[in-house]
Amino acid sequence: MLGTGILQGLAVTAKNFVGSYHDPARMVTQEYPDVPAKLPAAYRNFPFLVTENATDPMGTLHCVACQICEKECPPQCIYIEKSKDKKPDATGKMQLYPTVFAIDTAVCMGCQICVEVCPFDSIKMDKVFEVAATDRFSGLLLNREQLAKSNAYYNQIHPTEAAEVDARLAAERKAAEEKARAAAAAAAAKAAAKTAGSAP
Ligand code: SF4
Ligand code: SF4
Repeated sequence: MLGTGILQGLAVTAKNFVGSYHDPARMVTQEYPDVPAKLPAAYRNFPFLVTENATDPMGTLHCVACQICEKECPPQCIYIEKSKDKKPDATGKMQLYPTVFAIDTAVCMGCQICVEVCPFDSIKMDKVFEVAATDRFSGLLLNREQLAKSNAYYNQIHPTEAAEVDARLAAERKAAEEKARAAAAAAAAKAAAKTAGSAP
């Protein structure tokens, strides 16, 4: 019958209008910004850099400046400069670190490829929502200090994934410590044998 579709559409509208007064499932309008936006669990926008210790964020960045993410980023919006010296990474190995790490979030398309290719669990997708800025450069070109966020924050926004990463890094740290202990014991035994061999 002519007009059936219109009547069906109006019935759905009326059902939702009435339902929105008493059924929480039909209260689809969020009163943002008075009520913070409810973001889905898998929501992501721009990357951030994980730091091990919030009190020393630049000294404990997981990033070792390997530049893989910089090469793989499709719109080329990551810029990294390597250090000349080394510092211990999240597993205790001596590694380079980024003296410069910047992301142009005006260009970033949130594809997460940088996260997928990072071999050191150093870069993860953030869940921030209010990122509007009035200046395209000072507001949206984020530097190393602005990108760094603590591992505790990572655990808060992606608990399951962060727990897996923490367990893996702890296992790697333990293996590195055991290897160092074994090497030290072997060196001590060798030195003792040499001393015993040279004794009259
Ligand atoms: S999310 Fe995608 S576009 Fe953004 S920095 Fe990472 S690789 Fe580049
Ligand atoms: S974030 Fe990861 S892939 Fe990118 S430079 Fe740092 S360690 Fe390498």
